[in-house]
Amino acid sequence: RGTFDILPEEQKYWERIITIVNQILTAYGFLAIDTPIFENALLFMRGTGPFTDVVQKEMYTFRTRGGDYLALRPEFTPSIVRAYIEHGMKSWPQPVKLYSIGPVFRHEKPQAGRYRQFHQFNLEIIGEGGALNDVLLIQLVFLILKKLGIKGFNLQVNSIGCSQCRPDYRKILIDYYRKQRKKLCRHCRERLRLNPLRLLDCKEEKCRQLANNAPQVIDYLCEECHGHFKEVLESLDELDIPYILNSHLVRGLDYYTKTVFEFRLEGQNPIELAGGGRYDGLIEILGGKSTPAAGIAGGIERVISVLKSQDIKVSQESLPRIFLVQLGELSRRRSLKLFEELRNKGLKIAEALSKDSIKSQLKVADKLGV
Ligand code: AMP
Repeated sequence: RGTFDILPEEQKYWERIITIVNQILTAYGFLAIDTPIFENALLFMRGTGPFTDVVQKEMYTFRTRGGDYLALRPEFTPSIVRAYIEHGMKSWPQPVKLYSIGPVFRHEKPQAGRYRQFHQFNLEIIGEGGALNDVLLIQLVFLILKKLGIKGFNLQVNSIGCSQCRPDYRKILIDYYRKQRKKLCRHCRERLRLNPLRLLDCKEEKCRQLANNAPQVIDYLCEECHGHFKEVLESLDELDIPYILNSHLVRGLDYYTKTVFEFRLEGQNPIELAGGGRYDGLIEILGGKSTPAAGIAGGIERVISVLKSQDIKVSQESLPRIFLVQLGELSRRRSLKLFEELRNKGLKIAEALSKDSIKSQLKVADKLGV
């Protein structure tokens, strides 16, 4: 459950998305990187964060015969950071801009748009803390979605502060919610203990009302975070990228600092297309030198579902212009050679070499629209 086959007729969507991601990201100096789909489980426990839903409830972990404790990657970022540390990318020109495309695994309850094996395109900029890097990540996903022809999506941004200012805000938030504890849903009572910021993005109606009156993180940012966020917003204005300030946007993972962002398609069932943020503390958590970084990941299945629901054409696949029809053993053999000669000339050809009668071959040609 929660997995699926990508059938031949679906491939054109994947090709289109992967092509556009490759084109745009390489043009902006991003380098491709692939990491294993399984890693030491501790990497994600420490990296993604011990109190996140992803690690507590959704990670596929297993012990190998040799006794290693492994996990199927539930997201890219810890793996990319591990690679950054392991391969000494600190000595490369900074920032290092990396991107990946591939499957990730989360044991979530399967439903529309929620799978257990799904695919992301993932961008990271490691080694530089300036606000322009956050903006570049946002801009690139904006460009990808635009280029794909997706309409009506929006960008939501927020800042959740840093290790200097967030602890104070966290306390204020806990104080606020403690007084209302009885009105919270069951999950939020647990969140209050483990991950209080997540109280702000609970979908339950009663919790949403409480969140609306909750103290806003923006009012408690330290000077540096405030300045950083201001720069992000001003740069977005300059690039004509519209955004919505969402003070309830906190994202699910522990490692985010300062800017967080999400691309969504609102509607009866809102769809989150991509999300990310800055994570200045993560490299140190994973054993590297303190290094600023930021990233964003987009969900390929979600993007495909929107391409379909918005009826967006993904390929102008040209029909074959020539169909080789053969009769008899000799001409069948000759056809193979001819096929290759024509293909070499750049012509699109089709055949039905396994069929004998002209009638059945013409049927295939007809079906292919030659
Ligand atoms: P996250 O790593 O949780 O920030 O997710 C990044 C993006 O991956 C989201 O914006 C979604 O588009 C997509 N995504 C997350 N979880 C799933 C899932 N279970 N099935 C399909 N797509 C997902």
